[in-house]
Amino acid sequence: MTILEVTDIARHFRVSGGVVRAVDGVSFQLARGETLALVGESGCGKSTTARLALRLIEPSAGSLRFDGVDMTQAGTKAMRAMRRRAQIVFQDPYASLNPRHTIAETLEEPLLVHGIGDAASRRARVEELLSLVGLAPFHAARFPHEFSGGQRQRIGIARALSAGPDVVVCDEPVSALDVSIQAQVVNLLKDLQSRFGLAYLFIAHDLAVVRHMADRVAVMYLGRIVEQADKRSLFANPRHPYTRALLAAIPRPDPAGRGRLSPPPGDPPSPINPPPGCPFHPRCGFAVARCAVDVPPLREIAPGHVAACHLAEALPALPPSMDDRPS
Ligand code: SF4
Ligand code: MG
Repeated sequence: MTILEVTDIARHFRVSGGVVRAVDGVSFQLARGETLALVGESGCGKSTTARLALRLIEPSAGSLRFDGVDMTQAGTKAMRAMRRRAQIVFQDPYASLNPRHTIAETLEEPLLVHGIGDAASRRARVEELLSLVGLAPFHAARFPHEFSGGQRQRIGIARALSAGPDVVVCDEPVSALDVSIQAQVVNLLKDLQSRFGLAYLFIAHDLAVVRHMADRVAVMYLGRIVEQADKRSLFANPRHPYTRALLAAIPRPDPAGRGRLSPPPGDPPSPINPPPGCPFHPRCGFAVARCAVDVPPLREIAPGHVAACHLAEALPALPPSMDDRPS
């Protein structure tokens, strides 16, 4: 059952050189209990898309439904309900925690904001939340600087869970952590998801973490989704050259680098003056003449698998090592 539905949402803003189309007509659905990953290079609009989806920022166009309610038309009461039921875990756990608040105060804050429980039940909830994320109760009286990066992110996750959400946006929740800690936090998120039936909108700049986390993946480029599919199809049979480039950039255990493709050369073009035709064409190794002229629409290539590439069906098969199955 769909809990969050985003249709043709856009966020444009004026700068001196023109109009930046930070998010330019993005649509997706998130079902209860599932993880949809939004993946793309920095600046592709994935964080902005997630904030639009929670209506933390106002869209320039498009619509948004949360649990069946049209949130673009919603009044204060519905907005408050959504604020409680849709939470966010930030990339930088240190910057997102108030350094002058104890952990108890931080975890209690959403309960106070939403008028949940009395003082005694809030204290009990703080202990419960700490235990849910694997921290001992005595940590409640401490301050953020007394914790490691991984512990701070556990606290950020506990805060997001405090008021009992249905949807959690995870905005690169492990990117700032040591590699050795990343797997622990990913496993914690997965465990909490299955316990509480949480739906995650999981943002990542590469496909490595997504492989362990996502049910479905949407790849973004210059403010648009260029490919979306269930994880298995996306990893085994990517139909957009940009997705292939992101896959090629995942470090592989194979020391010979067998079948490794090059990541896309150069940086993404400016979203102020995106290239005509396919926005990926200046970096695309498969581009043909029409790619510089015609914008490729997002088309269904196989059931549940969409891609925005003129050559989606014609791309060559992947080299063998690219075709490994996601775990
Ligand atoms: Fe490359 Fe052309 Fe496909 Fe764009 S439409 S991704 S330029 S092949
Ligand atoms: Mg971001």
